Amino acid sequence: MGTTTSLRAKLADALLGTAASMRVRTSLTLIALVVYVIFAFVQHGEVMLGLIDLAESNRLTAFNLIGAFTFYGLVRSGLSERLSDEPSLTLPQMVFAMVSITWSYAITGPARGAVISIMIFVLMFGMFRLPPRSARGLAMLGFAMLAGVMFWRSQTAPQRYPVKHEVVHLLFTAIVLAASSTLAITIERMRARLAAQKKELADALALNRELATRDALTGLLNRRAMAELLAREHMRIERGQGPLTLALLDIDHFKRINDELGHGAGDEVLRRFSSVVQAQLRAADALARWGGEEFLLVMPGTRAEEAGVALERLRAAVAAGGFDAIAPQLKVGFSAGVAQVHGGETQDAAIDRADRALYRAKQAGRNRVEVAQLA
Ligand code: GH3
Ligand code: MG
Ligand code: MG
Repeated sequence: MGTTTSLRAKLADALLGTAASMRVRTSLTLIALVVYVIFAFVQHGEVMLGLIDLAESNRLTAFNLIGAFTFYGLVRSGLSERLSDEPSLTLPQMVFAMVSITWSYAITGPARGAVISIMIFVLMFGMFRLPPRSARGLAMLGFAMLAGVMFWRSQTAPQRYPVKHEVVHLLFTAIVLAASSTLAITIERMRARLAAQKKELADALALNRELATRDALTGLLNRRAMAELLAREHMRIERGQGPLTLALLDIDHFKRINDELGHGAGDEVLRRFSSVVQAQLRAADALARWGGEEFLLVMPGTRAEEAGVALERLRAAVAAGGFDAIAPQLKVGFSAGVAQVHGGETQDAAIDRADRALYRAKQAGRNRVEVAQLA
């Protein structure tokens, strides 16, 4: 049982290839080849019924099979990838099919009406697989070739191909082609609508992700996104991949700013504070709005002492932050508690240590940075 399966899998790999994109291409080409083989048998049946001349039938079958094997070879060998930017060779294969069908019409005689239905089928298939312009071009080519052969045969073999019959055949072909091009337009519109809907959905998803991970006022990461980021970073230190330090920053006397200048000015201060701090950070650092006027800074690859130095730099940047653009002479400062996360310690425990360090900074008179001791 197992060997049968693996044998079948091996055969499929050999016939179709292993890459997914290759398999789609080779499957379709192989199906076409099988159809040509079946067609050869049917046509030979017609020979036996005395409808088609044997030599003519053999010529067409040779043409069909050589063509089908060539297409399969081109696609399966990967040569088509180098020859064409459409490696399925859909359009060339369909043009080939059109020639084959027209040829078949020219030799089939009384039973030729059935051949037209195959041409219609190929054209319908083209509407799904080809760009609309190519599909229309293909339909016109098919129609022109068929009309040409009808005219030629009605002149050269009027007993087998009476003009009256050919006129009726051509008329019906024209009607079906016109109707199916209407269908093609509908399909084209449907495709466009689907593509537009897909883009709308993708945009909505992106916006949703933005809303879910960003703080609306400052544009910084929100608490949720920061918690996820922290969890990821925490796994890294547990694997021993470098130190990780975090810091809680809290704006000093922010309530006073709100009370004296109004809530709107308070919001402006929060925004400016965020952009001033963010501008100082390294690429690996991440800043989140943790609560009202409290921020959590995560510094991967950084030890507590280095983080303390970085925080002092931040303090200087905020002191020179240009808050007087919001209100004359407005100065904003912050206090910070810094804690390096230790292996074996949970992230919540580390945040807790940073919070206690922040409390000490506030107690000691604000506008300063406190580095927490080892847990
Ligand atoms: P401390 O130096 O001890 O930190 O004093 P503080 O006044 O900064 O601290 P407190 O926690 O007493 O006050 C924080 C204030 O921040 C209270 C709250 O109304 C305000 N706040 C919180 N979120 C926002 C916001 O989104 N916009 C504005 N404008 N104010 C906010
Ligand atoms: Mg505060
Ligand atoms: Mg606070």
